[in-house]
Amino acid sequence: MENRSKELPPELTLYNTLGRKTQTFEPLVAGKAGFYGCGPTVYNYAHIGNLRAYVTHDVLVRTLRRLGYDVNHVMNITDVGHLSGDNDEGEDKMVASAAERGKTVLEIADYYTQAFFKDTDRLGIARPTVVCKATEHIPEMIALIQRIQERGFTYLAGGNLYFDISLFPRYGDLGLLRLDELKAGARTGADENKRNPGDFVLWFTKSKFENQALVWDSPWGRGYPGWHIECSAMSVKYLGEAFDIHAGGIDHIPVHHTNEIAQSEAASGRHPWVKYWLHNEFLVMDKGKMSKSSGGFLTLQTLIDDGYDPLDYRYFLLGGHYRSQLQFSYAALDGARNARKSLGDKIRALAAQAGQTAGTETARDEEASGYLAEFDRALVDDLSTPRALASLWGLLKDPALRPASALAAAFDMDGVLGLNIRAQALPSPAEDPGFAAEVQRLIEARKDAKAAKNYALADEIRRQLGEKGVTLEDSPAGTSWRRT
Ligand code: AMP
Ligand code: ZN
Repeated sequence: MENRSKELPPELTLYNTLGRKTQTFEPLVAGKAGFYGCGPTVYNYAHIGNLRAYVTHDVLVRTLRRLGYDVNHVMNITDVGHLSGDNDEGEDKMVASAAERGKTVLEIADYYTQAFFKDTDRLGIARPTVVCKATEHIPEMIALIQRIQERGFTYLAGGNLYFDISLFPRYGDLGLLRLDELKAGARTGADENKRNPGDFVLWFTKSKFENQALVWDSPWGRGYPGWHIECSAMSVKYLGEAFDIHAGGIDHIPVHHTNEIAQSEAASGRHPWVKYWLHNEFLVMDKGKMSKSSGGFLTLQTLIDDGYDPLDYRYFLLGGHYRSQLQFSYAALDGARNARKSLGDKIRALAAQAGQTAGTETARDEEASGYLAEFDRALVDDLSTPRALASLWGLLKDPALRPASALAAAFDMDGVLGLNIRAQALPSPAEDPGFAAEVQRLIEARKDAKAAKNYALADEIRRQLGEKGVTLEDSPAGTSWRRT
C-alpha cells in the first residue's frame, strides 16, 4: 500500500446490497481481494447497458489495486443454461440464438465471447485474472449439486432436480424478499413441478426443447445445469467457499444472486458466502431498461460506427455513479466526447510545456498531492467516479502547478480512470514520422508471434501498442491501427 498518499483515508467503503448499508471493506485475507463479477451470456453482442456493468467492475478492480490489494478477479462466460426468464422460464438463449443463425451453440458462444472481449478491450477494461466458461465446469457443478442434495435441500420432480427455497431460512435476505409475497405473486401456468414458486432448477433432464444441443450425463440423468449453479460452482472453485466481493447489475438481486447465495451456503453450511454484494444501476433509454433479448439495442460498435471513440463512452459512464440510473442519449455522449477532447488538448499542452521534464516527476509530487488525495477520497467513498473526474479536472486547470507535476498526477489517476490519457501526451503521427514505422514494426512482430502460437507475446505487443495510444483492428485482410 506504499503508493497511498498521506492524506488518504485508510479505508475503502462500499455500499453492500446485503444489509443495505455502506461498510468499510475488510478483506478475508489481509492484502488480498477475491472478486467475482457475473459475466456475459454469449448469445448476442453485449449492449451498452451490459458494458456499464463491466466498466463498474473494472473501476472496482483498479481501485482495489491502487489501494495495494492483490486482486483475483474471476468472471464467467455463460454458454449454457440461461433461459430467457431468469426463473427457469422461456427459451434457452443460446439454443434459440444458434437456431436463428444456423450455427452450433459452441460456434455462437465462441463468436460472441470474442466480440465481448473486443468490446471490453476497446473500453480499456482490464481482463479478469480468471475467465471461466460454464461448459468447461460441468463436473464442478454436478459435484456442488450433489453436496446440496446430500444436505437435503433438493427434490426431484418431472425429471428435473429443484432447490427447495423453503428449507433455506435466509432465502431472500439479499433482495429483502418475503416468501409469502413470492407465493402471492406466483403466476398461473408457471412450472407445476415446483413446490414453491421461487424454487429453481439445479439440473434439467426434461428439456422443453426438442434439440437441446449440449447435454451431459449426471446422477439425475442426461441433461444440463440450471443457470444459477454455474456462478456458485465456478466462484467456489476459483475463490474458495467464502470470498470478498460479488457484483452484477441490479436485475440480479431478486433471483440470480439470491439463488446463488442459497445454493452456495446450502452446500457449504457457511455464512456469509460473500461479504460484500455490489450492484450497478441500469443504463436506460427512453425510460426503459435496455435489454439484449428485446432487440433494438445499441452496441459499442454502433457507437463507433456513429463516429465515437469507445473511450467517449467510458468517459460518459464514469460521469455517473454506478448506483444511479444513467440515461443514455447521443447528446450526453457528445458531451463526453467534447470533454475527452478538451482533456486531450489539455494533456498535450501540458506535455509541450513540460518538455523534457515530462514523465520525470513522481506522481506523489507535493504540489499535486492535494488533488491526488481528493481523487482517492472520491474513489474510496463507494467508487465515486464523478468526483474522481472532477479532481482530475481541478488538477489540470490549476495554474499554480508545474506542468510536469500535473501531468504525472494525471497519469497516476488514469490508472483507475482508464482513459488512456498518457497516449494523448504523445505527439500526433504527423508530428512524429517515426511513429508509424515503429507501429508497423510492432504489428509485424505480433503477426510473427501469432504464427509461432506465442499468444502471450502477441498480447504483450498489443498491450505495448495500447500504451502508445494505438488500437489494433484485426480482420481477414490483415491488421489495421488507429490512434485513440
Ligand atoms: P447478461 O449478459 O444478460 O447476463 O448481462 C450482463 C450484465 O449486464 C449483468 O451484470 C446484468 O445485470 C447487466 N445489465 C443488463 N442490462 C443492463 C443495463 N441496461 N444497464 C446496466 N447493466 C445491465
Ligand atoms: Zn452469476
